[in-house]
Amino acid sequence: MRIGIGYDIHRFQEGRPLLLGGVPFPGETGLGGHSDADVLLHAIIDALLGAAGLGDIGQHFPPDDPAYHGANSLVLLARVLDMVRSAGLVVESVDATVIAERPRLAPHLAQMRERIAGVLGMPPSRINVKATTNEEMGALGRGEGIAAIAVALLREPQR
Ligand SMILES: [Zn+2]
Repeated sequence: MRIGIGYDIHRFQEGRPLLLGGVPFPGETGLGGHSDADVLLHAIIDALLGAAGLGDIGQHFPPDDPAYHGANSLVLLARVLDMVRSAGLVVESVDATVIAERPRLAPHLAQMRERIAGVLGMPPSRINVKATTNEEMGALGRGEGIAAIAVALLREPQR
């Protein structure tokens, strides 16, 4: 078994669409940053890369590379799954927490879970997505952005 952890944070930026776990939030302020700034998928990508011993998201998809400007993070996740499989590993489970004061995420968690499970080719029961606030403390508490943390468990298939 191999375990990996991922963390990411992005600031809100007016005029950008908000995507979390590949799910769009129409009418909500989006996040700034490289690719589509899907902070949840970026944390999961880093957890998968970490568990596989394959470095981090910035090494594989450099933020200053125009190829990844506005990139769909679900596509990046699919590419990371290919890397994990090429390393001879299978994804066993993923757990993640999104930390945000807004928007309210509870009604959308099941959809995020299904979308991530779809890309990873595994049942949604093996993907868990939770949401919490920062209790109005610090930058996240002031609603300046959204953070996410994730863990992934990989295993070597039985021979
Ligand atoms: Zn990111």
